[in-house]
Amino acid sequence: MNNQINKNSNKENEVALQQLTELQDELAQRLKNLSADRSSSHSIDSSEQAVERENDEVVDQLENDTREELEQVQHAIKRIENGTYGICAKCEEEISPQRLKAIPYATLCINCADT
Ligand SMILES: [Zn+2]
Repeated sequence: MNNQINKNSNKENEVALQQLTELQDELAQRLKNLSADRSSSHSIDSSEQAVERENDEVVDQLENDTREELEQVQHAIKRIENGTYGICAKCEEEISPQRLKAIPYATLCINCADT
C-alpha cells in the first residue's frame, strides 16, 4: 500500500478526477468540431471571404479559449495524480470544496483568486 495521496480524502479526488476526465473529453471534442468548422468554411466562394474571415476569427478565439481550458483541466488531473489537487498554488491552503465543484480545475483559493 502507498499513502502518497493523503492530503485530501481519496473519495473526493475520485469524484474530481471523474469530473475532470469528462470535461477533458468534452473539450477535446469541442476542439475537434471547431477545426472541422474551419476547414469546411474554406470552400465558400470569394464574394463571402470577408464574412469567412470574420467567422474564422470567432472560431480562432473559441479555439484558443477551449485549448486553454483543456490545458487547465489536464494540469488539474496531474495535480490529482501527484497529490497536490485542491491545494492553493499561492498560499498552500486548501481550496474550498464549493469552489472546486464550480471550477474543478481551480489552482487558487477564493482569497488568492480575488486579489
Ligand atoms: Zn490561496
